[in-house]
Amino acid sequence: MTPSAVLHRHLHQAPTLALSGEGSYISLEDGRRILDATGGAAVSCLGHNNEHVKQAMIDQINQLSYCHTAYFSTKPFEELASLLIESTGGKMSRVYIVGSGSEAMEAAMKLARQFYLEKRNPEPQRTKFIARNQSYHGITIGSLSMGGHKFRRELFEPILLPNVSHVSPCNPYRNRKDSESDADYVARLVDELDAEFQRLGPETVCAFVAEPVVGAAMGCVPSVPGYFKAMKAVCEKYGALFILDEVMSGMGRCGTLHAWQQEDVVPDMQTIGKGLGGGYAPVAGLLIGDRVIKTLEESTGSFRHGHTYQGHPVSCAAALAVQKAIQKDNLVENVREMGIVLEEELRKRLSDHPHVGDIRGKGLFWGIEFVRDKTNKEPFDPKSQLAFRIQDKGLEAKHSISLYGGQGTADGVSGDHILLAPPYNSTREEIVRIAELVQGVVEDVFGELDD
Ligand code: PMP
Repeated sequence: MTPSAVLHRHLHQAPTLALSGEGSYISLEDGRRILDATGGAAVSCLGHNNEHVKQAMIDQINQLSYCHTAYFSTKPFEELASLLIESTGGKMSRVYIVGSGSEAMEAAMKLARQFYLEKRNPEPQRTKFIARNQSYHGITIGSLSMGGHKFRRELFEPILLPNVSHVSPCNPYRNRKDSESDADYVARLVDELDAEFQRLGPETVCAFVAEPVVGAAMGCVPSVPGYFKAMKAVCEKYGALFILDEVMSGMGRCGTLHAWQQEDVVPDMQTIGKGLGGGYAPVAGLLIGDRVIKTLEESTGSFRHGHTYQGHPVSCAAALAVQKAIQKDNLVENVREMGIVLEEELRKRLSDHPHVGDIRGKGLFWGIEFVRDKTNKEPFDPKSQLAFRIQDKGLEAKHSISLYGGQGTADGVSGDHILLAPPYNSTREEIVRIAELVQGVVEDVFGELDD
């Protein structure tokens, strides 16, 4: 008998029904009350059941639930776009709103292509993209092609786009040699990117794409200082666009509204998602800088692209209310403060654990990578599904915490990891509780494994 009509991830086993949410907690049908330490997939930045956001959505539905934004604009769409542009200090100039991070990446890829076609001196030969191994940029064919997440790509490899190649990510724990300083490491990664441009033919590359802090594919890995400035310089040298994917790491998650603001490396385009609407509506976006926009303005004046639900009025109203709440309550500051608490608590409780290889992150975006052997960083065999065991253990009634697990790769590019992304308005008590629970889960899982 089919247990559910839904095409769940596991066809034979529907997950437990989630009935309600309040703040950082989700209540399940079987009585468990789960501390949502990851906000789903780093989404629920305000927690659940926020009255202001709900009211803004109801007000918008009462006014106008839908119109096609190819023909009409709406107040929440305009206001949201202005707020986002303002939040970049005017460094971005237009906003395109879609329903998911994958759609935002697709839009970025197509806009990059159109940009080169519409330049005063067109460059139609620019058809290639360079991204990074162990990155994640979405699940549709274009965005999956851009990503370097081996597990998510492998079944679909033959139907992915052939014009995307991948260079090494910046992951000091895994890739930096003991003898290397940050500057040496960056110089090595610059050389690799430069060589990839040369291999492809620099005049054929549209853009380099990267996540400021790698989320789903490696578990919250920030780059070393100076890395993005150096990567952007390579793009500039060859006239390619520099695109940042801030779907997971942006909109306040890392302690500044935009992750690039911490190094002041302004991208030509930037995708945003998750924290934009905090999960109240499926909403993501693309912020586009002057270089691209001016070219289109001076040429066809139109982006040859469009979705039925682009700029959806209720999604925009939700995102606007979420962003206003973040501003009003200084929540990005709270992210920075609580981030320090989370880091301290995690390090205090887990640094000495024999299977905790690395604890890293920024703001309220932290990852823990597990290794079989700490001395040589040997990861667990991905077949052991360690990260998912930790995730499942967290959901047991004893712990009742939601963790986001990610599998390591067989080649050791990354080990099994979990990711933490609590709401921006988390209290100190909640953050300490998260660390306590994570410690308990880790001890239980390895206790069982080492027995
Ligand atoms: N880019 C990044 C960096 C992401 O983390 C994700 C989602 N995890 C996406 C793109 C794709 O977003 P979505 O799942 O909303 O399509």
